[in-house]
Amino acid sequence: MIYLDYNATTPVRAEVRDAMLPFLTDEWGNPSSTYGFGARMRKVVENAREQVAELLGAQTWEVLFTSCATESNNAALNAAVKANPRRRHIVTSAVEHSSVLTHCRALEREGVRVTYLPVDRDGLLCISDLEAAVTDDTALVSLMWANNETGVLFPVAEIADVCRARGVLFHCDAVQAAGKVPIDVRALPVDYLSITGHKLHAPKGVGALYVRRKAPFTPLIHGGHQERGLRGGTESVPLIAALGQAAVIARQEVADYDALVRPLRDRLERGILESVTDTELNGHATLRLANTSNITFHGIASDALLMLLDQEGICASSGSACLADSDEPSHVVRAMKPDGGASRQMVRFSIGTETTAGIGDKATAAVRRAAAALRSAG
Ligand code: PLP
Repeated sequence: MIYLDYNATTPVRAEVRDAMLPFLTDEWGNPSSTYGFGARMRKVVENAREQVAELLGAQTWEVLFTSCATESNNAALNAAVKANPRRRHIVTSAVEHSSVLTHCRALEREGVRVTYLPVDRDGLLCISDLEAAVTDDTALVSLMWANNETGVLFPVAEIADVCRARGVLFHCDAVQAAGKVPIDVRALPVDYLSITGHKLHAPKGVGALYVRRKAPFTPLIHGGHQERGLRGGTESVPLIAALGQAAVIARQEVADYDALVRPLRDRLERGILESVTDTELNGHATLRLANTSNITFHGIASDALLMLLDQEGICASSGSACLADSDEPSHVVRAMKPDGGASRQMVRFSIGTETTAGIGDKATAAVRRAAAALRSAG
């Protein structure tokens, strides 16, 4: 198998698996129990909280564990809307992940007005569009750090400055940025920030939400006293321990990530763009994650190409894994290039630190063969 879909999910690292194993075997107590067997689990959860806080530059009490980033994103939107019921407007972008967009559409049905900022043909956001969209009625700006389909980076520092200046809460979906670019909430005035374990070499089913001290927060999941009463439900100690260990590794490796991954991504990208005719890169040439390449193959349906690649053992995708079973074109590429069929004829390749030049070259050759076969079949 040649795995080129790291933006969909990542393999669990051996150190991460080892960190969670004790809590799947002998150490299975409930972290809320007061006896020693439970209290030990509480320590594990708090240690992981510290590890995640260190990855983000946060204080430990500013980190909430969740079940995934979909929950983190929903919780942030919910908190901001509930915090100030008189403000009935949200600003987001047309290219956010479905966990933000679908929640926004649900809020629209409840009478909240949502502005979906456009992006240009490179996937970039224009700060003056944001400035124009924010009004006295705006409760929250929710904009992602890095796009999951194209890797395009939004100017989060400028976005945060606009929000601060206008007195509006800012939520950032940093799922694809975490571990790939340094994150430091001490330098970035963001109010809420979401991450998830499975894009960081931890298992699926665990995420975190950073909530800045004094940012309003109303629970999305009501229940017991867990997470200081901010998120009910018995904590998954093994998954939380895994996320903590993944955060430690991400913090150690993030400084080298770009230099390690970018040359391989560039080689793969150049190989495809130069050897397959009628191809086009989707996403800014440089303001983009080091690992992501989104390429349109004109005249070739994404599904057909992905099927042939799958037959050769190559895992890639045509957008977010969360929407992979839908017939809809990529909403991200459509927002960038509304004319033509680019959004139905694209493939996302996303690599990781385990990818080698040899893997990339094999994939390039397979893409070339598959594209030629599909074009000759008409
Ligand atoms: N936000 C972005 C940008 C993503 O890429 C994803 C996952 O694909 C999510 C949110 C949702 O994460 P999770 O699968 O943990 O719910």
